[in-house]
Amino acid sequence: MKTKRTILCGVFAVILALTFTACDDGSGGGTFVAVTNITGVPATATAGTVLTLTGTVEPARATNKTIVWSVISGSAAISGNILNAPAAGTVIVRATITNGTARGTNYTKDFIITVNGGGNTHTHTYSTTWSYDATQHWKECTANDGAKTDVANHTGDPCNDCGYDSTATPVTFSSVTANGSSTATTTTLTLTFSDAIAGLSANDIALSGVAGVSKGTLGGTGPTYTLPISGFTAGGTLSVAVSKTGYNLRDSPKSVTIYYTDGWTWTGITIPPYYNFQVDSAINSNAIAYGDGTWVAVGYSQYDDVYFFTMVYSADNGET
Ligand SMILES: [Zn+2]
Ligand SMILES: [Zn+2]
Repeated sequence: MKTKRTILCGVFAVILALTFTACDDGSGGGTFVAVTNITGVPATATAGTVLTLTGTVEPARATNKTIVWSVISGSAAISGNILNAPAAGTVIVRATITNGTARGTNYTKDFIITVNGGGNTHTHTYSTTWSYDATQHWKECTANDGAKTDVANHTGDPCNDCGYDSTATPVTFSSVTANGSSTATTTTLTLTFSDAIAGLSANDIALSGVAGVSKGTLGGTGPTYTLPISGFTAGGTLSVAVSKTGYNLRDSPKSVTIYYTDGWTWTGITIPPYYNFQVDSAINSNAIAYGDGTWVAVGYSQYDDVYFFTMVYSADNGET
């Protein structure tokens, strides 16, 4: 890893292709091996709970093995390899491997996924912080499914329960986004408000819904702020609640998907991080991201036990 970082420090937007030497094979060329099947794809999902789509590409030495997922029937959305079906029913997803059948011919296979009702399996977990408008307060489910509890009118001004103060400055919590992806751990949340909030700090932000998340130092002067997060060992839906004395925060809490990965993971292949690489030639064009967020692989291929990556160095995160 030291070798890699030393060589690559300071390089910007350089397109490289990297050879991963898992064994001493050394064969750089190789004959095209077509995909013949994809197996092991999940057959069931739960409404309202994300499902990670995985599949085993056969044969193992197929030249191109990166699956791109899409929904072709049913009520569901796919982001990367994360399927989110909001309601019970049947969803048909399609797995496409670019140039999987031959160079210039994609391999596709469709899979039926039965989505079971979420009503029997999801137990609402309510935020510990209040949400409110000008007349009422309530607590929202951290899964951001619209469920509310403890709905009641304010009990004073300022409210004895939620702290709503009709004379405080109204600010809307406009959005929260997270970096990261199914192959890159989230490191930063970006919070945007309708206006800057004087003196806002990480202590004014409560995170729940994902175990082990710890906060760094809030950055920015508003209305957009960045909050580093770390410490979690699994991704999920993170609820972000903001409160600040002197402000009435509207539309808080909000939810965002965060990601966790512990290495290089592609469908059917897991490669540990921090291997040494050699420069080689470009291969294909499926977008994936390197674990620390500074490298973006735009393609890979495999010949026997040698992996070829096409990499773009997109930013220097200051790591030494
Ligand atoms: Zn819920
Ligand atoms: Zn209240």
